[in-house]
Amino acid sequence: TTGAPVCSGCGVRLQSESPDKPGYVPEQALGREDAICRRCFRIRHYNDVTHVAVDQDDFLRMLSGIAGTDSLVVHIVDLFDFEGSVISGLQRFVGNNPVLLVVNKIDLLPKSTNWNRVRNWVQRQAKLLGLKPAEIVLCSAAKRTGFDRVIEAIQALRGGRDIYVVGATNVGKSTLINRLIRDYSDLDRELTVSRYPGTTLDQIRIPLDDGRYIIDTPGIVYPYRLTETVPKGVLQRLLPEKPLKPLVYQLNERQTLFFGALARFDFVRGEPQSFTLYVSPSLYVHRTKLERADEVYAEHKGELLAPPNADELDAISPWTRHSLRIPPGSRTDISISGLGWIRANSPAGAFVEVYAPKGVHVILREAMI
Ligand code: GDP
Repeated sequence: TTGAPVCSGCGVRLQSESPDKPGYVPEQALGREDAICRRCFRIRHYNDVTHVAVDQDDFLRMLSGIAGTDSLVVHIVDLFDFEGSVISGLQRFVGNNPVLLVVNKIDLLPKSTNWNRVRNWVQRQAKLLGLKPAEIVLCSAAKRTGFDRVIEAIQALRGGRDIYVVGATNVGKSTLINRLIRDYSDLDRELTVSRYPGTTLDQIRIPLDDGRYIIDTPGIVYPYRLTETVPKGVLQRLLPEKPLKPLVYQLNERQTLFFGALARFDFVRGEPQSFTLYVSPSLYVHRTKLERADEVYAEHKGELLAPPNADELDAISPWTRHSLRIPPGSRTDISISGLGWIRANSPAGAFVEVYAPKGVHVILREAMI
């Protein structure tokens, strides 16, 4: 046959330009007969699923195939960027198949967290976002907490069907699938990956013991999440690995907080009040007067105000300003997709402005914790 070479494992079109995109093979393997993509290679040899990403169009095309199957859909979302990682419209695409909502990275919340509260919060937010999950499970794929519950819920809902795992990038999908493979399939047998006889080729089928499959789908890249648009070095500092230590700032109006040089928060107007920051500890938070903020930024971006460092500054989109009115009396989060959130405790309300790279979603929501 002629035309572009495809992976003999999953059928995806092979390419050697972008390691994070489907079908990657190193240049020297591209011409080989029976070449397989890096993802299939890793599953075959290391029982290890790696992260690949596609854009929205490809992703929707892939998703719309799920409605025609008889399967359980496992939707993994990231508690650290809940709104940003929910696949909007998922419910439309999956037809009558049940959705298990797996909320990952709960290890990031403080140990003292009231998990019932968080679960109820997830339930309300999921509903607002149009999801109707058959069940919600909180877990940490990295720390293995709640993982038994994930397995139990899958068993209860699966009824001998295939399992489609869907999620945005960086939610921990690969980490979770690798756990599933280890817990679920017969490790004595070498894992094989097989081509999916459908229209979309870049899905990977991982056989289960009962003849069914876990189907790993590529992660969708949502450009409105800060994590998807920053250079790798910045990404590492954005994604927290240890429990967040909430940082409480007692602020007066006309004070500013910088989150490295990635975002800026101005408390413009309101009674003195506290704001609690839930962001990666690798992000330097700098407090200054609103009057001085422009000057501080101009002088210190990429140096004191980091990440990004001086070399990475150019890769960050220019800021957009978001003006937000925080309602009085409520407990409200200001969520900056991919960066974290700021909880406002505003008995009398407040007017704030957030600067974040263009396109990154900044929203108000009910406080998570
Ligand atoms: P994928 O892009 O969805 O396949 O995500 P990965 O499995 O590659 O994980 C993305 C990032 O999130 C990596 O830095 C992981 O170490 C991290 N991660 C995955 N699961 C967890 C978790 O349960 N807790 C925390 N804190 N980080 C996690």
